[in-house]
Amino acid sequence: MPSVVQTSHLQCKKCGAEFDYRFVPGGSLTALRLGKSRYMRCPVCKKWSLFNIWDTRVDPDVHHCELTIGPS
Ligand SMILES: [Zn+2]
Repeated sequence: MPSVVQTSHLQCKKCGAEFDYRFVPGGSLTALRLGKSRYMRCPVCKKWSLFNIWDTRVDPDVHHCELTIGPS
């Protein structure tokens, strides 16, 4: 079984910082209700933004970013 953890490469709309976000899709009803977007805090400027975490998914085997947040 492949890992269910997804990695998305996101860019903060406020400061322009790029980072990877790791998450488990469909982990809860709350996550499903929010759909493709997730409201969270930029790890660089600490400002809240709505990020599309679904259409920005990348393959973690070929994509590497210096900054990664999410469940370890
Ligand atoms: Zn930011």
